[in-house]
Amino acid sequence: MKVSRYILSTLKEDPSDAVVLSHRLMMRAGLIKKEAAGMYSYLPMGLKVLKKVMSIVREEMDREGAMECLMPELTNADLWKESGRWNTMGPEMFRIKDRNGMEYSLGPTHEESMTNMVRSIISSYRDLPLNVYQINTKFRDEIRPRFGVIRSKEFIMKDAYSYDINQAGLDESYQSMARAYRNIFSRCGLETIPVQADSGTMGGNASEEFMVASEVGEEVLLLCEGCDYRANREKAAYKRTESSADETPLEMKKVSTPDVKTIEDLEAFFGCSQKRFLKSIVYIINEKPVMVVVPGDREVNEHKVAALFAATEIELANDEVVEKVTGAMVGFAGPVGTVGAEIVFDETVPMMKNAITGANEAHYHLKNVNPGRDFEVSKVADVTSAMEGDTCSVCGGKLYEKKGIEVGHIFKLGDKYTKGMNVSVLDENGKAVTPLMGCYGIGVNRTVAAIVEQNNDERGVIWPKEVTPFQVHFIGIGKKEEQVSEFEEIYSRLMSAGFDVLYDDRKSSPGIKFADADLVGIPVRVTAGKGYFESGRLELKYRNSQDIKELSIDEAMEEIGNFYKK
Ligand code: ATP
Ligand code: MG
Repeated sequence: MKVSRYILSTLKEDPSDAVVLSHRLMMRAGLIKKEAAGMYSYLPMGLKVLKKVMSIVREEMDREGAMECLMPELTNADLWKESGRWNTMGPEMFRIKDRNGMEYSLGPTHEESMTNMVRSIISSYRDLPLNVYQINTKFRDEIRPRFGVIRSKEFIMKDAYSYDINQAGLDESYQSMARAYRNIFSRCGLETIPVQADSGTMGGNASEEFMVASEVGEEVLLLCEGCDYRANREKAAYKRTESSADETPLEMKKVSTPDVKTIEDLEAFFGCSQKRFLKSIVYIINEKPVMVVVPGDREVNEHKVAALFAATEIELANDEVVEKVTGAMVGFAGPVGTVGAEIVFDETVPMMKNAITGANEAHYHLKNVNPGRDFEVSKVADVTSAMEGDTCSVCGGKLYEKKGIEVGHIFKLGDKYTKGMNVSVLDENGKAVTPLMGCYGIGVNRTVAAIVEQNNDERGVIWPKEVTPFQVHFIGIGKKEEQVSEFEEIYSRLMSAGFDVLYDDRKSSPGIKFADADLVGIPVRVTAGKGYFESGRLELKYRNSQDIKELSIDEAMEEIGNFYKK
């Protein structure tokens, strides 16, 4: 491809609205163009990369025996109503009507659609296992589309769904996808960290997210210094320690605390650390009030609480409910005395001594409160988030935090959709059973952004070889007619050797051509300049190195061939 005939729309300056590196570089290298908030076009070079990532995804999915199909992006509302998600998906789902008033959504994900298709195809255990996938556009009305194609309103997802006759089968399908994902990301030149993720009601090791470490990542990961425990914050477990554990219990006292409501107010009033307090928060879970009691220096982890109650979502109770449950205005709740709600205590609470808590009476707190003595510690669970410096629950090592971008997610769904949508097959004994399902997603555009985020330097992108838009960036330096015809000759020899070449045939200065080559980031640059006309030597330079090799055209072609073969 000749640059003079190509859209090489590079920008010298960073676009003002691009705050993360990959977004800036993808815009500057002319891979994407913004059409509106959260909506991007792929220019020819960007599309080449996107297609390469899709091919890798296809090859690795096919290798594991998954079958590609393609479903409509318009999805029927009835299916969503059948699974119950028409109501729970909320405003993130784009909803539309046709001229007859029929309702649809622009598919944000396809569990329902795929399950509907599959249930009309399978009838016996002999039809299973089955793993079907597609690569198509998903639509999500994200609250805050940002970071370019990392979080956009429409994006390309590879979504796969497996159906198995039993748990052992599901485990195997899940493992095969875990394998495919590792291969896909490593071929894309991405270093990913697979972390345990919140699996809602499924529990166990039923969900893994593939994260790319990045300062701009929206996910917080906890990793252990001592072992290979890795989990996202929604899920991460940690071993509890409590500094007050060995104190002698003192006599409980009621203290007047007018208008002292927040943890910060309390800290100032009592002159002690946040750890000393019991924070009591009332939620509505499955339509009932539940009080969650945690140490004052910790946040309630709502994902963990929801999983504990097998709820899809939980919400904070309003002031009225809090008053009804505790008998006091918001800010003075606690577990001592009569509470009109089920209470869940974080695992730390039973270890705490001489704590301070709301008295369930306006403007009063209780000090020297001792769990077990002053209130019954009925239901204990892990309901707080781990933090940097916490103790690993597996090996006792220290946990540390890292930020990450989620590029893929594998998930054991169990019978959530197959049961909800009445899918059944006959087993070997002719008995009707519900197949178990798994779902597996990769954000293709986000993967491209993550590749850029991880492979660059101050001059531009450095493409990993399997996803580079072109294999060779060829530059000719010289404007004379006979020189240009020599360049044409080299270009066609490189092309006939089977390389995908971007030939910069513009009349621009060498400086501009080299700067664009660095920005665009093709792994191999070949230059024909002065040296070529003097001694027939081309200059070969890899994008990730400063060294320049002087080679004859045959030697250069051999070297490039070897580079791409490895
Ligand atoms: P996130 O927590 O980032 O919103 P998610 O949990 O909603 O992600 P999934 O529903 O598991 O994501 O979707 C599978 C994959 O699709 C994600 O791992 C991610 O790579 C990609 N993805 C999700 N939302 C977007 C988006 N708005 N723009 C681009 N890619 C996305
Ligand atoms: Mg999301």
